[in-house]
Amino acid sequence: MAKKKPLVCYCRFWVDGRTYSGTIRDNSVDIVEGDPFTGFSPIRLSYPVDRVKFLPPFMPKRIWCIGRNYLGHVKELNNEIPKEPLVFMKSTSAIIGANDFIRIPEWAGRIDYEGELAVVIGKAGRNIPEEEAFSHVLGYSIMNDVTARELQKSDGQWTRAKSFDTFAPFGPALLVTDQMPEDAVIRTTLNGKNVQEATFSQMIFPVQRLISHISKFATLEPGDVIASGTPQGVGPMKPGDLVEVSIEGIGSLKNICAN
Ligand code: MG
Repeated sequence: MAKKKPLVCYCRFWVDGRTYSGTIRDNSVDIVEGDPFTGFSPIRLSYPVDRVKFLPPFMPKRIWCIGRNYLGHVKELNNEIPKEPLVFMKSTSAIIGANDFIRIPEWAGRIDYEGELAVVIGKAGRNIPEEEAFSHVLGYSIMNDVTARELQKSDGQWTRAKSFDTFAPFGPALLVTDQMPEDAVIRTTLNGKNVQEATFSQMIFPVQRLISHISKFATLEPGDVIASGTPQGVGPMKPGDLVEVSIEGIGSLKNICAN
């Protein structure tokens, strides 16, 4: 049995005009030097959580996304159950952090939230067997795979609909662990009302299958993120709405929509 690493929630944050790396402990953030890809060490300085502005925990190298990976979501959009993981990409230029604004252009039609578990790759690999998949994972974070639903349909492919500036809220923390949070609940609320709720055991293709599948055609690299699909309950957002995606043990990714 591999030895379990302690659970650490790594973050990047801004306070008093400076940017730091940190780890979250209860209601404070402890500053660290370094990052979880190459290693980090503590500095004896902390800030209260409510004083800092969280940034994306790192800038992903690529955002691999999985469509139609929860049965309820496949059915609500009247789609076919995929025979293998449905992979698409979202531009890293869409990344924003917690509490940044999701900008909703008036001309783009319906814009939906999609709360998702973001799997962060820490070790490169190609043709990764499912049994070895988790050894390539650095940890887990949260992504809101914001989608221009009408353009997704009319364009015939998804690049534009998924890649508007600000359509990839990411963070606020990266849970560094070799344990898949299988039983954790992912929940999305819109203006405080529950709209999505699921556990990761409900995925049609589990995380180890997603990693194995992508690595059959592309070498996965440290800093790659796999947004693993959204559960049932997607719906539109409008300017002024507060959308919050939370995963137990990782945190809560809040964003406000604006024009
Ligand atoms: Mg999605």
